[in-house]
Amino acid sequence: MASAIFTAPTPQNEPVRSYAPGTPERESLKKKLDELAGQQIDIPLIIDGKEVRTGDTGNYVMPHDHRHVLATWHKGTAKEIESAIATSQRAWKGWSLLPWEDRAAVMLKAADLLAGPWRDTVNASTMLGQSKTAHQAEIDAAAELIDFWRFNVHYAEKIYKEQPEINDPGIWNRIDHRPLEGFVYAITPFNFTSIAGNLPAAPALMGGVSLWKPSRTSIYSNYFVMKVLQEAGLPDGVINFVIGDSAALTNSILPSPHYAGLHYTGSTEVFLMLWQKMAENLRIYRNYPRIVGETGGKDFVVAHSSADVDALVVALTRGAFEYQGQKCSADSRAYIPESLWSRVKEPLVDMVNSIKMGDPRDFRNFMCAVIDNSAFKSISEYIDEAKSSADMEIVAGGGYDDSKGYFIEPTVVVSKDPKTRLMCEEIFGPVLTLHVYPDNKWAEMLELCDTTSAYALTGAVFARDRAALEEAGRVLRYTAGNFYINDKPTGAVVGQQPFGGGRASGTNDKAGSSLNLIRWVSPRTMKENFVPPKDYPYPYMGGK
Ligand code: NAD
Repeated sequence: MASAIFTAPTPQNEPVRSYAPGTPERESLKKKLDELAGQQIDIPLIIDGKEVRTGDTGNYVMPHDHRHVLATWHKGTAKEIESAIATSQRAWKGWSLLPWEDRAAVMLKAADLLAGPWRDTVNASTMLGQSKTAHQAEIDAAAELIDFWRFNVHYAEKIYKEQPEINDPGIWNRIDHRPLEGFVYAITPFNFTSIAGNLPAAPALMGGVSLWKPSRTSIYSNYFVMKVLQEAGLPDGVINFVIGDSAALTNSILPSPHYAGLHYTGSTEVFLMLWQKMAENLRIYRNYPRIVGETGGKDFVVAHSSADVDALVVALTRGAFEYQGQKCSADSRAYIPESLWSRVKEPLVDMVNSIKMGDPRDFRNFMCAVIDNSAFKSISEYIDEAKSSADMEIVAGGGYDDSKGYFIEPTVVVSKDPKTRLMCEEIFGPVLTLHVYPDNKWAEMLELCDTTSAYALTGAVFARDRAALEEAGRVLRYTAGNFYINDKPTGAVVGQQPFGGGRASGTNDKAGSSLNLIRWVSPRTMKENFVPPKDYPYPYMGGK
């Protein structure tokens, strides 16, 4: 049973390595990149700790060089899912009873393995397989995942220590934070290796078991993350790594009576579909499933006429174009006052035009390729729409080329219409659309920002005027779950800015915090009476 006798180490954010020229980490990472790029691996499913190969395989390629195959991967079927569920239920019996500090030790060891001997492999596989620069891989696959694993232990300890504060004389009240009965289905997105490693691990830390289904376009790095967890001593079957056709696997998983919850990050459409399918199976489940889903965003920057132009331009560039705009938090719409636009336009266009794009193995690049052909097509369609619209002007970028890799130039569009599709929909690529508003329409612009998109994930305000900051914070209170003041809307850090949004952006359960972990336990209240009554009448019954 969960107890909290031992105190876990106090977590610190993992220091981010620079990979600057001449540093030993740069040399070591480059060596690992050469090693991985020079071989082709075969990725199995991992069920009950064993590698399972079905023989039905797909190729995993580099997005920036799509003829280069990094791996083949095996597609699971209903048969493998059946075995994964059965295995997970067997593993649950031992794991759910293990003292919490033993479970915590596995996660802390995984964090240390990732910080040390596995760092280069997980970073290099994220760079090659998801087309991230060294810096983007380091802040994600290394630093953030290490933080998730370490901070979650700290938050779990706090949850276990949370006990009823009042005990009547002769009574001892306790709360047993029980793991969920059954398994959690962890469905993870391609864009963050850290999220992929966190979603199956968080319910496991709380004593539960997970079926982890990574995205087809991040299987490569995610497989190495699974190996880290195994090396850290995660017992067989506690997390099963299931890969294959997403819809087919899901159709085998959702109708299981052992289904206890969904830990999902990805697009809103897939989340809505999953929720609907769960509802269809509700009568089958032993427990009402927990549903945690972090989904899309249409993240904004609003600038006031008092904004610092230099800070604004850097925030727009980094916020919109790092990792090719494929962050759920990426700034993809901005509202600039007329009085600032003439001072913002030139430095912004110059900065964007100076961005180097290419293979992540060339460390001079700031951007690489978008994830796959379907992303390339969908993003380039938005750019074409901007090119053909009389209401829109492309002031930087606009080019794209998929002959070698899926490359799309960082693109800045100015739209007269603040409600064009490019200002409302998640594009999930390197396209920033700006609307220039009259300075005296600041209040109307804030209302417009609040009502333009169904999403409410991240957003930022730039101003020096304190009253303007206060007003933006108030009007946009529900427009973002992560709100930034004079900073870009990306780059949330575990333990500092817990992440998640409301409205169409998710259930806002803040990954990497106790708010998330609490969803993976089902408390049992226990009352012990040391001196139970020996007769039934109450005092008021004395006399007449
Ligand atoms: P996606 O929706 O294409 O895929 C997400 C996951 O769902 C993948 O594992 C995918 O294989 C799976 N999936 C797809 N179809 C499925 C089906 N029919 N049944 C079951 N699973 C299915 O998203 P993506 O392209 O991997 O990631 C990008 C999206 O994720 C963006 O919308 C982004 O905003 C969002 N995201 C949100 C956050 C957040 O914290 N809010 C963080 C990262 C990414």
